[in-house]
Amino acid sequence: MTSKHVTEVIPLSAPEMKGNEWAYVKECLDTNWVSSAGSFVDRFEDMVSAYVGTGYSIATVNGTAALHVALKVAGIEPDEEVLVSDLTFIAPVNAIRYVGAYPVFIDAEPEFWQMDVNRVSDFLSKECSWKRDGLQNKKSGRRVRAVVPVHLLGHPVDVDPLLELARMYELVVIEDASESLGAKYKGKPVGSLGHMACFSFNGNKIITSGGGGMIVTNDAKWAQMARYLTNQARDDAVEYVHNEIGFNYRLTNVQAAIGVAQMERLGDHVCRKRGIAQSYREALKSIPGLRSIREADWALSTFWLYTVAVEEHYPLKSRDLLDELASRGIETRPVFRPIHLNKPYEAPRSHFPVAEQIYAKALSLPCSVSLTTEDQSRVIDALKEISGI
Ligand SMILES: *Cc1c(COP(=O)(O)O)cnc(C)c1O
Repeated sequence: MTSKHVTEVIPLSAPEMKGNEWAYVKECLDTNWVSSAGSFVDRFEDMVSAYVGTGYSIATVNGTAALHVALKVAGIEPDEEVLVSDLTFIAPVNAIRYVGAYPVFIDAEPEFWQMDVNRVSDFLSKECSWKRDGLQNKKSGRRVRAVVPVHLLGHPVDVDPLLELARMYELVVIEDASESLGAKYKGKPVGSLGHMACFSFNGNKIITSGGGGMIVTNDAKWAQMARYLTNQARDDAVEYVHNEIGFNYRLTNVQAAIGVAQMERLGDHVCRKRGIAQSYREALKSIPGLRSIREADWALSTFWLYTVAVEEHYPLKSRDLLDELASRGIETRPVFRPIHLNKPYEAPRSHFPVAEQIYAKALSLPCSVSLTTEDQSRVIDALKEISGI
């Protein structure tokens, strides 16, 4: 390969702070409202609720904390089981363990790389049976209580059949929408589809508050419980009475101020991500061996991370392509290692062929909201040159 003179590294996905972020943060500093209370926290929550269309939202310190509290609020107990995507960032799986429950991994489907609802159906119908105290996993003897579909890479899970299964088997559905704020399923925003949903506003997400998370739900009791648990389960603000063990999971006003400014730009971010995806899709048609991530008919994806599968007939395997692009100043990343391949969750004979295949082949390309046409052309030209066309 020819080594190019590297001008500047094109990042995978960098935040963009071009709205009211400075003004709102300055307002926090000028007014001394810098900590875990303040008008920006309320505004941020209201904006997310309004966007997603849920009755309640509770800001949290990050998306992992949101998932932890959502599982607590849903009443998931130690030694119960929760179904969760195998191909995901590890946060929702760790959150399941934080409440003492155990994950049951569900493989991805090959078309859109999301939780395979047919596998959920197989598990529930073949490997579970009804006992006096509820649905039981026949092999482990544990009660099966909930499902956490992860809307991966900006694309929704096929939720309708999942909701139908959840109804039949009395499971709580907690969407992990951390990667997919702004995406829609059959016209409905992700985060409004299950009983509860969680978002993340980490720096690499479609919008960021530096760090942050949100729980959304239409259930008033759950919302109240989530608010309570994220604030040390404080029952009396004067006497500091606590009747339960809570957490300090609140978001600060400074972070929320950034979040509000970013929420103002969410529509624009989604639009630009989709534009970047469209340009990649067109260009990749002429490059043999690179298969673009797909969008289902029933989906509106944000293409949070624009990802390709590097097939056998491309000259380099995905990891070698990653290295070659890195040497040209282009940052890319594989998708998450399937969780069952990570040490805390390894189990003998566990095998999730679709997730493993996607993991072997997939590479996310630079797709910052601020990616310029020139930079995107640099990426596309590199992919073409390496392919030898
Ligand atoms: C980012 C992310 C989270 C939450 O991450 P935090 O860094 O804790 O905000 C949860 N689940 C998924 C799938 C994610 O990608």
